[in-house]
Amino acid sequence: MTYSQDRFRRQIAFKPVGEDGQRMLSDARVAVIGLGALGSTIAERLVRCGVGTMRLIDRDWVELDNLPRQALYTLHDAEYHSTKSMAAAAHLSAIDPTTHLDPIVADVTHTNIRQLLEGVDIVLDGTDNFEVRYLINDACVALGLPWVHGGIVGAAGQAMLIEPEHTACFRCLLPEAPAPNTAGSCDTVGVLGPAVGVIASWQALLAVQWIVERKDSDAPCRPSVLSVFDLWHGDVRKIQLKKVPDCPCCGRKEFPFLDGHHSTDVQVMCGKNAVQVQVPIGTRIHLAELAQRLRPHGEVVETPFLVRFSQGGSTLSVFADGRAMVHGTEDPVQARKIYQRWVGS
Ligand SMILES: [Zn+2]
Repeated sequence: MTYSQDRFRRQIAFKPVGEDGQRMLSDARVAVIGLGALGSTIAERLVRCGVGTMRLIDRDWVELDNLPRQALYTLHDAEYHSTKSMAAAAHLSAIDPTTHLDPIVADVTHTNIRQLLEGVDIVLDGTDNFEVRYLINDACVALGLPWVHGGIVGAAGQAMLIEPEHTACFRCLLPEAPAPNTAGSCDTVGVLGPAVGVIASWQALLAVQWIVERKDSDAPCRPSVLSVFDLWHGDVRKIQLKKVPDCPCCGRKEFPFLDGHHSTDVQVMCGKNAVQVQVPIGTRIHLAELAQRLRPHGEVVETPFLVRFSQGGSTLSVFADGRAMVHGTEDPVQARKIYQRWVGS
């Protein structure tokens, strides 16, 4: 019995996988974008299943308040501010040293996403904001790559496999991103670790299923199904979606997020220890609601024109048109992170 047959014998015994499926998993090349609570769990699940090659992409480092949910990381990673992609690669390599891991520390943008997805078979969404999800959707539809969307806030989440040309895409589901500050984020609404584990495992399962079913070329196209979970109340629903013929992305093949027309731009204000964040024209922020949402998390000053929020050594000033200044950093990646964390995207 080979190493692989021995290690994966119970998975091979599961008929829908079998020896052929296990070989497909070993040959599969997967990209995980975002290695927070969802992405780190997805990556661990897929490496344990025997996925052969994995690109691990994240812009962030491990922080103490990640540890209740991000089970792949340790206190040591948080104390040493290890980047998530390098820390994930180290832990995953200890689980299975035969996996080819490609850790990349990067902020995924319209300028680098094509390169980041080069050579992969399927993409897993471990992100926590809409802007990157629309960018992944644009890129995957343009490149003909399947991707697995997942999202969670509190204990409520959703997951869906998107196969360009076969299923509805993310913009069929949600044609426009919710306005910033309306959807809530894990920082303002909170998030529950075990609930994240369910969504991430569901995403990993959808990816495994897509990989092993490729061996059967006659396999029917899977229907467009969005699974919606209210895990606190034990409620799981399947929603059948229809591919929208006039969808701007998969129908009309317009890719504004990939073309950079719909992205958040950041500009370092030299000598001011500040970064300006510009959002797409037409964005409106309800300042009173934003102030109310931020108040439990730091010091908030509200005027008719802006909300100023101070927390953790940085100050975020947000205007009604969505534009913002982040004081306390000259790092554009950090500024984008602060904006997306507290205002949304
Ligand atoms: Zn679509």
